[in-house]
Amino acid sequence: MRWENLTAESGRGRAADTALFGADAVTTRTFDTPEFRGITFHEVRARSVVNRVPGASRMPFEWTVNPYRGCSHACVYCFARKSHSYLDLDTGLGFDSQIVVKVNAPELLRRQLASPRWQGEHIAMGTNVDCYQRAEGRYRLMPGIIAALRDHANPFSLLTKGTLVLRDLDLLKQAASVTEVGVSVSVGFTDPALWRTVEPGTPAPERRLDVVRTLAGHGIGCGVLMAPVIPFLSDGPEQLRATVRAIASAGATSVTPLALHLRPGAREWFMSWLGRHHPHLVHRYERLYAGGAYAPKWYQRRITRQVHELAQEYGMGPARPGAARRLPEPEPEHTTPERTQLTLL
Ligand code: SF4
Repeated sequence: MRWENLTAESGRGRAADTALFGADAVTTRTFDTPEFRGITFHEVRARSVVNRVPGASRMPFEWTVNPYRGCSHACVYCFARKSHSYLDLDTGLGFDSQIVVKVNAPELLRRQLASPRWQGEHIAMGTNVDCYQRAEGRYRLMPGIIAALRDHANPFSLLTKGTLVLRDLDLLKQAASVTEVGVSVSVGFTDPALWRTVEPGTPAPERRLDVVRTLAGHGIGCGVLMAPVIPFLSDGPEQLRATVRAIASAGATSVTPLALHLRPGAREWFMSWLGRHHPHLVHRYERLYAGGAYAPKWYQRRITRQVHELAQEYGMGPARPGAARRLPEPEPEHTTPERTQLTLL
């Protein structure tokens, strides 16, 4: 078993996973159904499931819950890829297909919420990897997590690309009746050809917008994180317009654009994809991202301005703080595995 190898042979792997889970608590499974073919699940019993965000003063949230590591949605640009390396797992295909499942997340959360030391702070989910990725269809951790939050009237938000969130609609409504609940969906663009190659494991953008529509129809306001806007591939004026128009017509309460960023781990994987699919853009990217993981400020400002103007034109207001999602901000390059925050879900 791969995990046994890690704990037996790799000092870094041993340090990382024993710190997080306990080496004897790992069970590795595969499922021979088309949906899970090629995916290996590492079931672990985590020691803690509520994580504090380092440098929370710079972030719009302080506490997170992430029941999974790795993500079969397989977005080429996903910056959570780097966090897989802390478990000695591969950050490319390994990130897409070696999924760590914290099978005791619901019971652990319920226990932690009941602790006298817990002050009922807001909890953000979907900040590292997607809590409604395909694995959730089998493991069903989120119903227990939402039920625990509901029972403790603990405010929370979640961000997803997964249509599976609608399975938990009733629970979300129940939670929203007793506490602040924010749901946000990530749709960076609506171009189907780009979606198929750059976000190959995700539901189509139109299906994600159906989630927004359904939630709105049930009284749960849903914002859209328009992320990532991909330079030279999804940032043309007409592409931005088509995306914002679709988001508005789905009934989103707000739209927040975020330009692609390429941190180590994601950068290598994305650039290799770019070289295969759009080789003529490689030099332009090298120039645009010459200064580091983030696109230049002028580029970020331009995208933000364009999207906000379009949002206004289509009747969407700006995002309210603490409403439908927790927004990402640029972070320091160095983060620890459980503390890596906000992918481009
Ligand atoms: S960007 Fe989000 S949905 Fe895509 S692979 Fe990463 S965690 Fe999963």
